[in-house]
Amino acid sequence: MNDVPSDEGGARFVVHHHLASSEHYDLRLEIDGVLVSWAVPKGPSTDPREKRLAVRTDDHPIDYLEFEGTIPDDEYGGGSVIVWDIGTWQNHTTADDREGVVFADEAVRSGHLSFWVEGDKLAGGYTLQRFHEEDDDWLLTKRDDDHADSRRRPTSTEPESVLSGRTVDEVTAAAEGSELREAEDGR
Ligand code: MN
Repeated sequence: MNDVPSDEGGARFVVHHHLASSEHYDLRLEIDGVLVSWAVPKGPSTDPREKRLAVRTDDHPIDYLEFEGTIPDDEYGGGSVIVWDIGTWQNHTTADDREGVVFADEAVRSGHLSFWVEGDKLAGGYTLQRFHEEDDDWLLTKRDDDHADSRRRPTSTEPESVLSGRTVDEVTAAAEGSELREAEDGR
């Protein structure tokens, strides 16, 4: 496994913080024109000893990359969303039985993806490993490289959006405030 970023980058990734019926983070990687997505209940860690559950969810359109706001409660994913981290990613997946990098779409299908991210909060190598095919349950793990840091807790210490500086709670409060105002205006 090679920890040096290759120069074939340019694909984007985002981690949304999503306060829905349950709070989670959505890791989305741009692959072949869509955002291939995993819901990570505890969010990504920078500690290689921490394995984080990542449940594969529906692909999202690229337009969703920088989405922040509040999805109505009666819609899929109802709740507030911020861009917790954003940047570029590179596929580093290799296979024992051949040379070069395994294509990202194939890596996802086969249940093992090794990748490198360059975001504001997250950097370096991560792996996604599927452990339960039927439920599409995976584990997201930081690779042990120069960007690993077992003392950092970025989901706790850096909760703000990298785009707007708002927390997901502030987005929720703003949405509730405007709902209240609309209700009062309608009286
Ligand atoms: Mn979500």
